[in-house]
Amino acid sequence: MDSTSYCGRKLIGIFEDMNDAIDAASAGYRAIRSMRVEQREKLITSIRELARAEAPIMAALGVAETKMGRVDHKTAKHILVADKTPGTEDIVSAVKTGDCGLTLTEMAPFGVVGSITPSTNPSETVICNSIGMIAAGNGVVFNPHPNAIATSNYAVDLVNRACAAAGGPKVLVASVAKPTLDTANIMYKHSAIRLLVCTGGPGVVKAVLSSGKKAIGAGAGNPPVIVDNTADIAKASKDIIDGCTFDNNLPCIAEKEVFAFADIADELISGMLKNGAYLITREQADALAQIVLVDTKNPKTGIVKKTVNRDCVGRDAAVLLEKIGVKVGPEVRCIICETPFEHLFVQEELMMPILPIVRVNNIDEAIELAVKAEHGNRHTAHMHSKNIDNLTRFARAVETTIFVKNAPSYAGIGFGGEGHTTFTIAGPTGEGITSAKSFTRLRRCVMADNFRII
Ligand code: NAD
Repeated sequence: MDSTSYCGRKLIGIFEDMNDAIDAASAGYRAIRSMRVEQREKLITSIRELARAEAPIMAALGVAETKMGRVDHKTAKHILVADKTPGTEDIVSAVKTGDCGLTLTEMAPFGVVGSITPSTNPSETVICNSIGMIAAGNGVVFNPHPNAIATSNYAVDLVNRACAAAGGPKVLVASVAKPTLDTANIMYKHSAIRLLVCTGGPGVVKAVLSSGKKAIGAGAGNPPVIVDNTADIAKASKDIIDGCTFDNNLPCIAEKEVFAFADIADELISGMLKNGAYLITREQADALAQIVLVDTKNPKTGIVKKTVNRDCVGRDAAVLLEKIGVKVGPEVRCIICETPFEHLFVQEELMMPILPIVRVNNIDEAIELAVKAEHGNRHTAHMHSKNIDNLTRFARAVETTIFVKNAPSYAGIGFGGEGHTTFTIAGPTGEGITSAKSFTRLRRCVMADNFRII
């Protein structure tokens, strides 16, 4: 796949050299600085319209290039981003008046934002971040994931086409033809980049937070789900499978392991089986774990650790089952298994439609194990229960950015739930469900002893 053209058409805003990409985004920033907010909102409207129209193209490109996820779900994700990412309405000024006059606080752009994007939601993240960052008045330069360059750069081109059609500069967001760790390093060090936004796993979040620049880090999760014996079990079974299998479990918020009260576990499993799950034995789970997780040696420390096999991330359940000799049809969308807490399926963030279920005896044990399995990421957790005390106890103990009660995980990013959407959930640095205001810096203007009307 070509990262600089699509069907013979040259993509706009893609450069060989990261320095040129930053220069182009800087020029774009200067151009929108002089625009009225009303005009900026027209650019956003145009991005929304084009993203909605070309959602199926980006979804198909993403699956073809990364071999991960599902076209129908990726299409839905792009439409969600187009519809529910906040625009300029998110940028709100504050005023304080008193005996000493008037103080105005405004949300100003940083300038050019450097954005690192993942392979799991590549064009979704480019479009979502572009809408928020442009609404805040910034230019953007992307260093996309090397495994999703063509898809990410298609989205960069889409944003530029949409902006130009609405009276914006020719290039407002930019990227490179061949993103590498070197191009990321140029971005970290370049004086024009005033804010870094990183959406990815722990390695890259750490790198960005060590850059010496203001950085927003959206890192890894391993969302646990607790199901207690007051839950609507039929609904919980369906919600969990729907959430866990959304885009083949690629979203960082998706259900990754279940802690089920022992007295409802059989009913929960049977409900899941009615909703497209396939139950494998403990032996089969161990065999599958040998395939979907591989030993990886840290080059610096020499320590060998299990990491996910990239060839298995985001694949269909049927493809994964075939690897252990089980043949099923496309109606099977999730692999479930009963495991102990220590199992790798519980401990590792697989990003595959594989869901381990651990039986627990009571709420104390459920909360203790679920908090441990979340590994202190403080990212996302879910619970199915009608017991308000249990729900509250778990939410307090797990301290996640997103906590979803009695719904599929995606309700937490505004898909069938209230609130805006984002594909950059900044737990480590605290911005949470990012939006335009996350990409601004506060500026104060003071008029002493005057400008009051009372
Ligand atoms: P990844 O961590 O492999 O890569 C993310 C980006 O970082 C890529 O562009 C990659 O090339 C780059 N990168 C990796 N190491 C780097 C370094 N040291 N310096 C500079 N760049 C570096 O991510 P992925 O596999 O595409 O995405 C999956 C991970 O991202 C999961 O852990 C998932 O939970 C997380 N994620 C989090 C969010 C969120 O909003 N919190 C959203 C999506 C994905």
